Order: sequence, then structure tokens, then C-alpha cells
Amino acid sequence: SDTGLGAALRSQFPILDQEVNGRPLVYLDNAATSQKPRAVLDALSRCYAEYNSNVHRGVHTLSAKATQEYEAARAKVAGLIGARNCREVVITRNATEAINLVANTWGEQNIKEGDEIILSVAEHHANLVPWQLLAARTGAVLRHVRLTPDRTQLDMDHFRTLLSPRTRLISLVHVSNVLGCVLDAAYVAEAAKRVGAKLLLDCCQSVPHMPVDVSTLGADWIVASSHKFCGPSGVGFLWGRYEVLESMTPWMGGGEMIADVYLDHSTFAPPPARFEAGTPAIAETIGMGAAADWLRSLGMDRVHAYENEIGSYLYERLSAVSPRVTVYGPKPDAPRGRASLCAFNVEGLHATDVSTLLDFAGVAVRSGHHCAQPLHRELGVAASARASAYIYNTAAEVDAFVEALQDTIKFFDDAHGGAA
Ligand code: PMP
Repeated sequence: SDTGLGAALRSQFPILDQEVNGRPLVYLDNAATSQKPRAVLDALSRCYAEYNSNVHRGVHTLSAKATQEYEAARAKVAGLIGARNCREVVITRNATEAINLVANTWGEQNIKEGDEIILSVAEHHANLVPWQLLAARTGAVLRHVRLTPDRTQLDMDHFRTLLSPRTRLISLVHVSNVLGCVLDAAYVAEAAKRVGAKLLLDCCQSVPHMPVDVSTLGADWIVASSHKFCGPSGVGFLWGRYEVLESMTPWMGGGEMIADVYLDHSTFAPPPARFEAGTPAIAETIGMGAAADWLRSLGMDRVHAYENEIGSYLYERLSAVSPRVTVYGPKPDAPRGRASLCAFNVEGLHATDVSTLLDFAGVAVRSGHHCAQPLHRELGVAASARASAYIYNTAAEVDAFVEALQDTIKFFDDAHGGAA
């Protein structure tokens, strides 16, 4: 069994070996951003120490080496997600930029007044706001998939009722960063095909944690951010089916994305260069490639299996802390399982107070709306606390978190002169 996998990997993550507020750091904010293994730190440092140079622009040796490493990183990302053609991977600043890219290219070209875009109430703001802006420009109509009556996941019966001949695009979160629920991507892809709509999947919380294979997923585009899968921040990617990318006009103009430039017009490079204007985040992209390779060398099946184990343990222990604790999202034994993250609230306590007290005990969790304000409205709360595990977290850390949470609840109860 891989029960000890988390403990075995920890030595590769230098940041984890420290105390916070006099206690060993328990980092459970991985849904916001992950930590980086030495393989990634070394790739960044080697780039700057050994061959830093601009890419695609020089014939000199260092530039050729930087270009080769940059393009190798693209291939490594393609490998992580099962893309056979690495020209289907566009390097962006993050997932947010990748979604904005689609909205401002394919969206501008194809969405007209009265066309419908299906989103959900559980989307991250990054998959809401770009479409709101597009709808405001074009007169398109946004439709939102509701939650099931138990409010644990998207309601596929409701989704079905939203489909129409006017549906042009479906853009949904693959794994929710709050509910942890996993989309029935095969069902959605089949529905999109049936109505002739394009499908974008927000894979920010799936690519880091489970096998994602674009050759069978059925999406036209997926997006993800490097910083959530052990890579550097400031870089992410858009994957798109090549014919779709080829049909898309440019968004940002400048160097690198052109074929020929005249004073009054230009012709454009084929994808992916067409969508990579300007000097990219070279070292960060190379670091993202190193992260993709590092995860692949572990095996995404193994990563997923370990996270199911640690995620279920986190869910069960957290749920058992007190009847006052509500954990959002499906149970771990739901049909497609759940991610190794738990957004929760303790009745009578503010999420921000909970996370502040946990930090005193060295435990890092996030509180707030997690960039999913409409979802929190659906859940009837303004905010939640969220503990999110990754491959390097251990059962002992879950225990430390649970103990600190018990102490936190007791602290506030005592301060209020008895139990709430
Ligand atoms: N979608 C989801 C589901 C996310 O969890 C996040 C990051 N919290 C994003 C989109 C946006 O990612 P980024 O800020 O890196 O663009």
C-alpha cells in the first residue's frame, strides 16, 4: 500500500520542514496553491544559472538551449494530460488567462445575441466573469446549472433542461474547489456534442490530483494553472483541439505570434505561437514542465489513489469533530468520489476566526469565499474555511489539524462562557 507515500515525498519539499508559531507547519492550503519539489526549484535555478536567454529569437547557443527547454516543457505538459500533439498546448499566465483567451477569441468570433452559454452556480470567478463580459458585449444569455437539492454537486437533471439548439458553449468546473465534487465529464461531453456546443473544462483542481486524459475527456479546451500542480506561479496552460485552436483569431498582438508584419497589417503564426505574444515566463514554463514530469514519474493513478485515502480520512475525521461542523460537498463514497479538500463551517464561529486560530497552531487553511461567491450564496453562507490536502500530506497532519480545530472550538466556547 502507498499509505506512507506522503511521508516519503516530504523530504523533496524543503518548505515543509519548518515551524510556524512554534509548531510544525501543517500545510493544508493546497487548493489555493501547492508547494514545489526540489526538481522544480532546481529547474528554475538551472535556467537562470546556466542558460537564461530569450526564446525563439536567437541562433546563439544559450538561446537555442532556452528555446529547446521551453518547447520541451510544452511537450511535458502535453504528456501529463495525454495530448498527442504538443502544439495543442498554449502557455498562458494562469488558468484565468486561458479562459479569457477563449472568451476573447472563439467567443468574440462565434457568440452572437441570443446565443446561450451554460455555466454553473459552482464556478470559480475565473469561469464566470469572462463570460459575463462576453455576454455584455454580445447579448449572449448565460444559463447556470443548479446544485442538487442536497447541495453537494451539480444537478445533471437541471443541466439537461438547459440544453437547447441555442447552446453554443458549455463551460464547467471539472472538480469544484469548494464542494470537491467531480463532474460527470463524459455525460456533459456527450450532451455538448448532441447540441453542437463547444465544451471547456476548468481543470484547475483535477489536473494536479487525478489522471486527466484529453484524448478521452471529450472537451474542446481545458485550462489549468502550474502553481497548483507543484510548478511555479505566473504560468498555466490552455489545451485545445488543434482544429479549434486553428480556427481562433489572435487575442493579444505583438512579437512571437506573427508570421509577417507590415506597417498596416500582419499575418499570424499557427497555434500555439499565435496565442503567445511577447516574451513568455521562460523559467516558470520550464519549471511547469519539471512539475509535470515529476508528477508523471509518480504516476497520476498513484497520486489519485493516495489522495483518495488521505482525502477520505480528512473528510471522516473533520465530520466527526462536532455536530456543529458542516463539511460541504458529496461523501467520499459518492459515485465519482470527491477531491481531497474539505470546505467547512463550524456553527457559531466565523471561518476567518477558525483559520486564524488554526494558524496559531501551525495549521495553514484558507477562509473566505474561495473565489466562488455565488456558490457560497447557494450554500447560505458568506464564507467557509477550507482544508485541502496534496500528495505530501500525511494522516498525522490530518490528526494535528483536527486536534487544533477541537482546541479552536473549545477556545471560542470558553470565551463565550460555555458551550454555544
Ligand atoms: N478555477 C478553479 C476551480 C480554481 O480552483 C482556481 C484557483 N483557485 C482557478 C480557476 C483560477 O486559477 P488561477 O488563479 O491560477 O488562474
